[in-house]
Amino acid sequence: MSQPPVHAPGNCIFCKIAAGQIPSRKVYEDEEIFVFDDIHPWAPVHFLMIPKVHIPSMAQVEPAHAALLGRMMALAPRLAAEQGCNPYPEGGFRMVVNTGTEGGQEVHHLHIHVMGGPRPWLKG
Ligand code: 5GP
Ligand code: ZN
Repeated sequence: MSQPPVHAPGNCIFCKIAAGQIPSRKVYEDEEIFVFDDIHPWAPVHFLMIPKVHIPSMAQVEPAHAALLGRMMALAPRLAAEQGCNPYPEGGFRMVVNTGTEGGQEVHHLHIHVMGGPRPWLKG
């Protein structure tokens, strides 16, 4: 029997977080989206937004995903404010989607980093 590929959904840490099989501090959840705090925050506010469906990265995004990604983008400002990001324009937040190894991606389940709060930050 061959082993499943390391990035297969069954072996994916973020699929397990979305399913509640690995604990996280949940920020938000609906039928399609799960949001939780990053375990190593770079900023006073740092959460990750993921689709529940296993999409490995932005490189696999197709037109059929447009509504889902649009919902994630549209949800971000509300959650950023709720999590303590200060109001725009003096406050604000940063959204980052690392894609592939050269893009700085370590976990291969598509996620949007949302970071904010007073600077300095650890990085970013
Ligand atoms: P990437 O480099 O892939 O864009 O970011 C992955 C992020 O996931 C990192 O910021 C890392 O701290 C976070 N992370 C990795 N494993 C876990 C985990 O088990 N729980 C949580 N909450 N965050 C994680
Ligand atoms: Zn996954």
